[in-house]
Amino acid sequence: MKHYSLIVIFLTIALTTLTACQKNLAGRTQFMLVTESSAIEASKQAYVDTLSPLQQAGKVDNNPKMVQRVNRITDKLIQEAIKKRPETKDWAWSVKVIDEPNTVNAWCMAGGKMAIYTGLINKLNATDDEIAQVMGHEISHALLNHSAERMSLAMANNMALSLLQKSIDAGEQGMALANAAAQVALTLPNSRQGEKDADKVGIELAAKAGFDPNAAVTLWQKMAKNSGSGGFEFLSTHPSPENRQEKLKKMIPLMMPYYQAAKGQ
Ligand SMILES: [Zn+2]
Repeated sequence: MKHYSLIVIFLTIALTTLTACQKNLAGRTQFMLVTESSAIEASKQAYVDTLSPLQQAGKVDNNPKMVQRVNRITDKLIQEAIKKRPETKDWAWSVKVIDEPNTVNAWCMAGGKMAIYTGLINKLNATDDEIAQVMGHEISHALLNHSAERMSLAMANNMALSLLQKSIDAGEQGMALANAAAQVALTLPNSRQGEKDADKVGIELAAKAGFDPNAAVTLWQKMAKNSGSGGFEFLSTHPSPENRQEKLKKMIPLMMPYYQAAKGQ
């Protein structure tokens, strides 16, 4: 009898661990209450909710030249992202340029929907290579399933698990809860480890897409130098891991062969 109880306890722990933890592309175990596919589903609504007020204000994609420039960069990054995780070819990849000159921000939701704010491009006077580093970093957060992780944290932190369970049982309510969590997740900071992983994958995607790895360092230098002028939402959701710039600098020689191969094509 005692033996039986132990087996039950062991199985319960094993099953719980399997549901709540999984490894991502970087090999890191993540705390997961939300699967990637439900994060993608919930992000669709979060995307509409985030974009509609901006669209109504005429702030979305209102500068064809800028839209063309950003698309040219992200198209190349998306190709590399798909090579890294082939199943993401089915994602509804897209990018929007948001005309908010005082907002320094960019994001990529679960499922590949991206945005970049004009404040980031103009305030930093960002080059194509630097834009590629920002978007490569954002795409990496999505590839590494950080959105589902942040949604899971949002749910665990802000809502009682029993309520979550009831809502999941109720189906539709569960979806509403997931949608809310997807929006909250967009404003939560990534973990420092998450930042390190996204830096690593991001610089690689960008190099393979033909963008100068040196720009990863100059990008963060510009962020640090200009952050005093306000509006740097990007820095609140992307906390600086220890020695970020030095670590990126060390990666440059490893990335140069990818960059040169892409440029030589
Ligand atoms: Zn980040």
